[in-house]
Amino acid sequence: MRFPFALTKKIASHIIKHKLRKTPKFAMVLQLEPLHTCNLTCTGCGRIREYSTSLKDMVPLEQCLQAAMECDAPMVSICGGEPLIYPKIEELIAGLLEQGRVLYICTNGMFMRKKMRDYLAAVYSPELEPKLKKLLDGKLISEKEAEVIRKSDDAAKKKVVIRPTKWMYWNVHVDGLEFTHDLIVEREGVFKECVEAIKMAKICGYQVATNTTVYRETDVQEIEDMFKYLSSLEVDGHTISPGYDYDAAKKDMVKRLGKDPKQFFLTRDMTRQKFAKIQDWGKAFTIFGTPVYQEFLAGKRELTCTAWAIPTFNVKGWKAPCYLMTDGHYSGYQEMLTKVQWEKYGVVNGVARDPRCEHCMVHCGYDPSGALGTNYQSGDNWKNIKYNFGSKPKPFPSSPELAKRAFNGVTIGKGHLAEAKAAINSPAAGARGAFSHKEEPHQHESHVGSSCGTSETSERDDLLAKIKDAKKSE
Ligand code: SF4
Ligand code: SF4
Repeated sequence: MRFPFALTKKIASHIIKHKLRKTPKFAMVLQLEPLHTCNLTCTGCGRIREYSTSLKDMVPLEQCLQAAMECDAPMVSICGGEPLIYPKIEELIAGLLEQGRVLYICTNGMFMRKKMRDYLAAVYSPELEPKLKKLLDGKLISEKEAEVIRKSDDAAKKKVVIRPTKWMYWNVHVDGLEFTHDLIVEREGVFKECVEAIKMAKICGYQVATNTTVYRETDVQEIEDMFKYLSSLEVDGHTISPGYDYDAAKKDMVKRLGKDPKQFFLTRDMTRQKFAKIQDWGKAFTIFGTPVYQEFLAGKRELTCTAWAIPTFNVKGWKAPCYLMTDGHYSGYQEMLTKVQWEKYGVVNGVARDPRCEHCMVHCGYDPSGALGTNYQSGDNWKNIKYNFGSKPKPFPSSPELAKRAFNGVTIGKGHLAEAKAAINSPAAGARGAFSHKEEPHQHESHVGSSCGTSETSERDDLLAKIKDAKKSE
C-alpha cells in the first residue's frame, strides 16, 4: 500500500462520519503553529515576517492540545517557525499521539539529530549497539555523541522523547538539491544536515516525509532529481505545493528585496507548466495528496478552495481564511467557521472571488477539495482509492552519480556564499569591498536552541542579487 492502512482507515472514517452527519464544514488537517521563532530566514517565508512582532510568543502546551480537540482533525501538522525550538515539543507530540492523531512534524531538519540522540539515550541498552555502529559508520553521530548515548542515566531514561511510531512523520523541508536549497534557506550546509537527519531517522526506525515548495525559478528537472535522490534514501512520502504570492510574503519581497513579486512567485499558468508531470511523479514516487489535486495542478480540472478543512491555529488564535492569507484571527474554530464569509474566497470557474486568490493553487487550499469530493466527477472516488491502496513505488536505486548530482553546492566548493565572494570580488561586481560574513545573532536568537547563520539582512540580499548578476554574465 502506498500509505499505511491504519492511517488511511482513520482519515477515511473521519470523512465518512462527517458525510453521514452532513456536516457542512469540518477539519481534515490542523496546521498547529506553537511558535513562529525560527533559526533560519528562508527567502519567501511569510511566517517569520508576518508574525515578526510576536516571535517570542508561544502557545501554551494545554492550549495546543485543546485546539486539536476542538477542531478534531485526524491529522495535525506541527509547523511554525521551527517547531523543534518549542520547549515542550516532546510533550506536545506525546499529547497529540495520545489523542489518536496522525502527526507531521514540519521541520527544517537542523535539530532533528539532537532530538533523535535524546531518543536513543532514553532507550539505550546493549542491543542498540548494531544501530549505533551503523550511525557511526555513516558519520551520523560522533564517537563522543555515541558515548553520551551509552552513558544513558536515569534522567535520560525519564526524559519525554520523540519516539518512532507509525502515527508520526518527520516532515523535512527540502526545496531542491544542495545549491538551490541552501540558497533558498539562505544558509550553506542546511541541505547536507537534512540529508544526514533523514538517513539517521531511517536507521532509527522513524517515518520520514519531505515537503517542497516550487517557486517561479524552480527547475522542474531538478525537482525530479530531488525526488529520485530522496527516494533513494527511502523517504516515505513527499508533499509538493506551488509557492504563492500571499500578502505577507508579497509585501516582504517588495519591501525587503525590492522585487516585483511576479519575479518570484508562480501564477496559475506557470504552476500548471511546472506541474505538468505531477501525475508521472505520483506514479514513480510516493507523492502525498490526492490524484484529483494532482490533476488540478496539472491544469486538467478546476477545484474550489476548501481552506476551512486545513485550519491554522497559532499565538493569535484561529487564522482566517487560510494558512496563507490573514483577514482575522478567531478564538474558536466553530466561531471562525460561522463568522468567515467563505463564499468570498477562492477561484470558481476561473473567476477569482477575491483578487488575492487569483493565482493560488496551494496544497492547503485545494488538496482537501480532492479528498472531500468538492467538484466531484465520476470516477474520482475510485481514483483516490486506487492511488491510496495501490502498491508503494519502489525506492529509486542509489548511485554515486545521483549523490553527485544532489551535492552540487557547498560540498564541492560551489556554495552560494562562495559564488557571492567571487561575484563581489570580481571587477564586474562594482565597488563593493571584500566579502565579510558575520555570524551575528539574529533578533530571535534568545529562544531556546535557536541560532541564525545569516548575516545582516541587507548584506545577504546584496549577495544574492550579485550571484544572479554574476550568473547572467557567465
Ligand atoms: S525554516 Fe524557513 S520556511 Fe520554515 S519557518 Fe523557518 S524561515 Fe520559514
Ligand atoms: S484560494 Fe483559498 S487557500 Fe488560496 S489564498 Fe484564497 S482562501 Fe487561501
